[in-house]
Amino acid sequence: MKKILHFIDGEYSNPVSDLWIEGINPATGEIITQISNGDVRDVEKAFQAATRAFSIWSNYSSTERFQILNRIAELIEENLEELAIAETIDTGKPLRLSKEVEIPRAASNFRFFATASLQFASESHSMNQAINYTLRQAIGVVGCISPWNLPLYLFTWKIAPALATGNCVIAKPSEMSPSTAAMLGELCNKAGLPKGVLNILQGEGKGVGNAIVNHPGIKAISFTGGTKTGQHISAIAGPMFKKLSLELGGKNPCLVFDDCNLELTVSEVARLAFSNQGQICLCGSRILIEETIYEEFKNKLIEKVSKLIVGDPLDPKTQFGSLISFEHKKKVQSYIQLAIEEGGNLLYGGNEIQLEGRCKNGSFISPAIFENLGPKCRTNQEEIFGPVITLQKFKGELEAIELANDSVYGLAATVWTENVRKAHRVAQKLNTGIVWINCWLLRDLRTPFGGMNASGVGREGGLEAMRFFTEAKNVCVYYN
Ligand code: NDP
Repeated sequence: MKKILHFIDGEYSNPVSDLWIEGINPATGEIITQISNGDVRDVEKAFQAATRAFSIWSNYSSTERFQILNRIAELIEENLEELAIAETIDTGKPLRLSKEVEIPRAASNFRFFATASLQFASESHSMNQAINYTLRQAIGVVGCISPWNLPLYLFTWKIAPALATGNCVIAKPSEMSPSTAAMLGELCNKAGLPKGVLNILQGEGKGVGNAIVNHPGIKAISFTGGTKTGQHISAIAGPMFKKLSLELGGKNPCLVFDDCNLELTVSEVARLAFSNQGQICLCGSRILIEETIYEEFKNKLIEKVSKLIVGDPLDPKTQFGSLISFEHKKKVQSYIQLAIEEGGNLLYGGNEIQLEGRCKNGSFISPAIFENLGPKCRTNQEEIFGPVITLQKFKGELEAIELANDSVYGLAATVWTENVRKAHRVAQKLNTGIVWINCWLLRDLRTPFGGMNASGVGREGGLEAMRFFTEAKNVCVYYN
């Protein structure tokens, strides 16, 4: 059985506890790995290594950092096939998604922040007889904690800017998707990253994750995950005055106006609702449709979704794989049941799927589409994080905005209309950190990324991330 070890001080090591967690392939139900179950002692080892490495790494020139981070990007690309297969086996996501989107994006994250380290600049402010300049210095040892849904993609999205700005990192992937993070350690060694600069700890959130958040020497925490976990982390890190970046859950609205390009919108809504089995924080789950095209849109959407190829995630033709775990499948099914109890009309799917062959015991359910559910019900208020969407009707722009903003979350929204003035008007009124107009998941890594309200605190991406991972220090020089 393959063992997933910690990567501390440039070397792979067993957990101090010698306790292990079983890793399960959710598409087959097989136990595939034994994962190190880290605890506070492993965090301390990693912290000591990271502290030793900090004096070396923070003194590297930006060119030296660029060369190493850029090399990591190249190595991810050179190992794309192997990484993509590992990601798919851990998570049940279609191989196509791992190969074409996720692993390439992990390489882009490193490449983007490698070049950002060359271009990062700070301000100066002159006064009569004095000049102020701002130093943006590395914080020290920082913690990065990421979820299972886009494993290497989100892991590297945090680690790359932390390293680019000269910090040393203690990072934890989800225990449900540990493999690609573990593989990254070896690539970092090959790229010449000094020992101890990046330490990758494996294990559970309540154990090793909690120990990272609680460690007094870890000065900043960048976290992506559920809103409840985010609350828990801020309750610990806040009183310790740690810098915090929280990218949390969502319940994203998708506003379909009657003047949209119908064919494009149907196809993109099917994609934004059910990519990665609805397990992307940016997936739309509340589909708001102008009443004049409601029936036509609904029928076309059902037809489109019914053509999604559900199957073995390793089959290159598969478009819709398994859910991350059997436990998560139960949670999603309980929401489908709740939607029915709340009076929802199940238009399509929602049933358990039993595939044949190697995936006969996998955690598959078909994409579910509901209608007849009002904005206040739990189905429309709570994050399901699975392949369940609801359709709601609206009449005119104001009602669309009101429905869209009727949520404690505020991560992302999409607007579908060919009327450019309406598109801009609506975008301004939506309470979300990201608005896509006539597109979804189109990302420029320079843009701010993050959510409002229960979707998080702070922004990642571009300069925002570089600033998060540095302390600004003003130096005022009097020269008279
Ligand atoms: P969780 O909050 O359960 O876990 C996220 C990470 O935090 C995991 O590595 C987890 O470890 C760890 N963790 C759990 N408890 C603690 C703790 N007490 N202290 C420290 N770390 C802890 O989220 P999921 O993994 O279930 O991910 C799904 C959620 O992530 C959804 O709500 C989704 O919306 C959100 N998300 C947000 C994104 C954004 O950019 N806003 C992007 C992607 C997802 P372990 O899994 O090992 O227990």
